[in-house]
Amino acid sequence: MNPPPNPARVIVLGGGLSGLLAAWHLQRKGLDPEVWEASAAVGGWAQTLSWAGPKGEPGFLERGPQGLLLRHGSALDRLIHELELELRPTRPKGPRWLGKAGQRHPSPASLAGLLGAPGLSLGGKLRLLAEPFIPAGTDADESLHAFFARRLGAGFARECLPALVAGVLAAPPERLGLGALPRLRHLEARGGLLLGGLRLGAERTRLPQGGTGALAWALAARLCVHTNRPVRTLEALPGGRWRVLGEGRSSDADAVVVALPSAAAADLLRPTSAEAACLLSAIPRLDLRVWHSRHPMVQGWERGLGLLVHPPEGRGLLGAVSFAAGDPRGVADLLQLRAYVGGAYPVDPALASWPGVFTELRRWLPELGEAIQVREEAAPGAFPLLEPGHGARVARIIKGLPPNLHWLGTERFGPGIPDLAEGIKAWVQSLRM
Ligand SMILES: Cc1cc2nc3c(=O)[nH]c(=O)nc-3n(C[C@H](O)[C@H](O)[C@H](O)COP(=O)(O)OP(=O)(O)OC[C@H]3O[C@@H](n4cnc5c(N)ncnc54)[C@H](O)[C@@H]3O)c2cc1C
Repeated sequence: MNPPPNPARVIVLGGGLSGLLAAWHLQRKGLDPEVWEASAAVGGWAQTLSWAGPKGEPGFLERGPQGLLLRHGSALDRLIHELELELRPTRPKGPRWLGKAGQRHPSPASLAGLLGAPGLSLGGKLRLLAEPFIPAGTDADESLHAFFARRLGAGFARECLPALVAGVLAAPPERLGLGALPRLRHLEARGGLLLGGLRLGAERTRLPQGGTGALAWALAARLCVHTNRPVRTLEALPGGRWRVLGEGRSSDADAVVVALPSAAAADLLRPTSAEAACLLSAIPRLDLRVWHSRHPMVQGWERGLGLLVHPPEGRGLLGAVSFAAGDPRGVADLLQLRAYVGGAYPVDPALASWPGVFTELRRWLPELGEAIQVREEAAPGAFPLLEPGHGARVARIIKGLPPNLHWLGTERFGPGIPDLAEGIKAWVQSLRM
């Protein structure tokens, strides 16, 4: 019997979730992937970092997502099961608010909040009911604003949407295309936001034991990953193979997957794929400032709170969210809050430091006591701004790449981890190697 042929060797550049997900699916396809990560830790933005409490108690914060949005049967849900990651049981959530017109109101992300949304006229509320009868759109370049105005009416798009989108994507809905929320296309294809949502099934935010960073650790534990190994250049070899060069080392592969932030990907690709590099470097990235703080617990907020601020009323503050009491990442008896500032919105100079952020938070959350601990985690370039028409740019980037050189990440599949999981799984399945 002949020995099985050697599996194709693939070097995946970047050990964030995009690179790890790609390597995981490539390995399951029978290929031989190896991940190169520049920093000392895997996970990129999706890391759970240690942040000891005021008396040195164990405590943590999330660099990126605080929980994972799971829908039964989705690629992310299946992955969590394959990795045998234990999830904490879902508990009822605490209050969710929209800060608007100087006051807080129930969040329009719930039905009650939607019907009582500030600024939405009776006509605007009745218009919401027509949503299931609106036909699917055909404009590939539609903005999120245009999509929601078409499906839920101009009133919703004007009064409710800006806060909902700013709180998730840190940018105005007029500047974002459907590529920023690929889920919307699926929902529309299944009958709209309401019917499509019912058909696809409920989505719930779930927390893996150990925080959301546990996803990256679980993947890395099953893969060949090298940390502290930045890639510097790529060289094309005869026969469509590639040489990857890092600091003082090089390695050859049958294929390379670039799963780096767009600026780093552009620098790497410039010598071999000038047009793709130029297109990649033209994708705007948004800088976020994220403030983590611990305060005395407030009665009624034990199950966690969520606040979205209607821009520009927050002067740059986009929203805040807290852990539920008993969350294993927090410290007993303290409220652990995370506030987001900036993104595509101008920040009032007063909000450049914690006292200004706290004053703004207190405008919406007057019950909030003085912080016992504060830590800023700047997130430069954290989110890509996927503008209307971005899909055509993605198609040109892919077309501009030489054989066996692949590119993926948030700019291709959307910034949400469920979208990355879905997109990367489908991409590996379609790969002919
Ligand atoms: C504050 C915040 C909140 C978020 N909240 C949510 C949320 O609630 N839900 C959600 O779904 N998503 C959320 N996200 C988005 C999500 O975390 C990201 O979209 C996702 O983690 C991106 O993964 P990535 O691998 O594509 O990129 P990255 O995480 O940026 O990973 C890229 C990796 O490449 C490495 N690298 C860079 N240069 C080199 C080099 N030269 N050689 C080798 N490696 C290199 C980096 O060190 C990094 O590890 C949030 C993000 C942030 C910042």
